[in-house]
Amino acid sequence: MRVPLLDITEQNAALRPEIEAALGRVLDTNAFILGGEVAELENELASYCGVKHAIGCASGSDALLLAMLAFDIGPADEVITTPYSFFATVSAITRLGAKPIFVDIEPDTYNLDVSQIEAKITDRTKAIQPVHLFGQCADMTRLNAIADAHGIPVIEDAAQAIGSEENGIRAGALSAIGCFSFYPSKNLGGMGDGGFITTNDDEIAEKLRALRVHGSKERYYHKWVGLNSRLDGFQGAVLRVKLPHLDEWSDRRKANADRYRELFDRAGLVEQIILPFEREECRHIYNQFVVRVPSRRDILRSHLTEKGIGTDIYYPVPLHLQECFAFVGYAEGDLPESERAARETLALPIYPELTAEQQSYVVDCIEEFFGGATRNTNAD
Ligand SMILES: *Cc1c(COP(=O)(O)O)cnc(C)c1O
Repeated sequence: MRVPLLDITEQNAALRPEIEAALGRVLDTNAFILGGEVAELENELASYCGVKHAIGCASGSDALLLAMLAFDIGPADEVITTPYSFFATVSAITRLGAKPIFVDIEPDTYNLDVSQIEAKITDRTKAIQPVHLFGQCADMTRLNAIADAHGIPVIEDAAQAIGSEENGIRAGALSAIGCFSFYPSKNLGGMGDGGFITTNDDEIAEKLRALRVHGSKERYYHKWVGLNSRLDGFQGAVLRVKLPHLDEWSDRRKANADRYRELFDRAGLVEQIILPFEREECRHIYNQFVVRVPSRRDILRSHLTEKGIGTDIYYPVPLHLQECFAFVGYAEGDLPESERAARETLALPIYPELTAEQQSYVVDCIEEFFGGATRNTNAD
């Protein structure tokens, strides 16, 4: 049996006639950059996320950069964030000359540990940027209380978290600006690069719409130095076909996560495989199903590769230890939970179309690796 980490073949095949028709509509109108399909998508995304404005852009990475630009973040400014994320979380800060100030993560959710934020706030702190890692919101209630008390804006890196919720409020509606990605591996994936930004603030929305077209509200008159970062008409059209299915896909990911829990529980691998922690107040959309493997993670991974099972490590090097961020001044040992997570985590296949047989096979192969001696017969 083969179990890829992600397979979007089935999903795209089912929608192919609709996707082709949507692409045809763009060809008919020549609206290749922004245009009607993107404008409609923006309305649909705003309503999906429960915000006033959604603004398409060229990628999730650009969404983060545009958000920083919207708050005029630049040299000498500090942004508090997590080192345990995708690269773009931090490059958006350093590219503008600002300094990332890292707080370590919680060992159970892998999201930034909100209790460590207050001690890092200075008069140079311009923003706090949590990441909703793997599809579960960071502790936004506590984070927002701290940010509000200090008058510091919050930017959500919600690239992995479209549709995830804390206390019924969706990612992107939990702060001043939410940043999302349509990278094909995200729960709502495009057919190429793309992203969008959410906000409830009319002024910020207007600025973001200008920043994505080189900072001009009126053509050839530039109020700010922005970027060229627009969403393509083709992407807009494809994403409009996919968006109505998103909740069903995310619910299937969640059902797959629940099935893994049952299977691992029966296998009795509680010491060897630590399952993802779900916060009670959250809707987890399982962009990734990441387990902690306290010992022999890399050998387990090779074993699974041999068995035809795709896995990945998110992330093998925490951002404070990346070569290009050495100048920021962090060293090994500074953020121990992030460093430990980098050594111990492993992402297993979780995509919506994954079958029960494939999941049983994954768990059987892991059980076989750990010797099968720990099977919990009581649970059968
Ligand atoms: C995917 C991702 C991004 C970047 O999105 P792109 O569209 O690939 O530029 C940023 N942050 C996180 C946490 C991501 O997972």
